Amino acid sequence: MEDCLFCKIVKGEIPSNKVYEDDEILAFKDINPKAPVHILIIPKKHISSANEIEEIDEALIGRMFTVIKKIAKDMDLKNGYRIINNCGEDGGQEVKHLHFHLLGGKKLGISMC
Ligand code: 5GP
Ligand code: ZN
Repeated sequence: MEDCLFCKIVKGEIPSNKVYEDDEILAFKDINPKAPVHILIIPKKHISSANEIEEIDEALIGRMFTVIKKIAKDMDLKNGYRIINNCGEDGGQEVKHLHFHLLGGKKLGISMC
């Protein structure tokens, strides 16, 4: 996707603070952190939102959660953390490339942070 911000980050056209990368998945620090640890985990493949996940993506999406677990361990989030996905207009999704927020490093409130 030519005009997708996160595809540009995948291609290295926009810099990011990477914390994890493999062939299919990239994780980087959120530019506007809402908690001491705020990481975005994305598939390198462009999937617009959780609502556009297809059956063929099931293994990839599953693996994103083992990556999240690994990052949480690396970031020393022993006490727990929160995983958030905003989907579509009413879900408050701003960037139209599937991403999971990993938030932690403090006792989180009822809202997103
Ligand atoms: P959404 O609201 O779509 O679930 O979350 C988008 C997230 O992307 C926001 O938390 C926002 O701070 C983050 N973000 C937006 N632009 C950039 C950017 O250029 N770099 C990084 N690292 N994060 C970004
Ligand atoms: Zn994209």
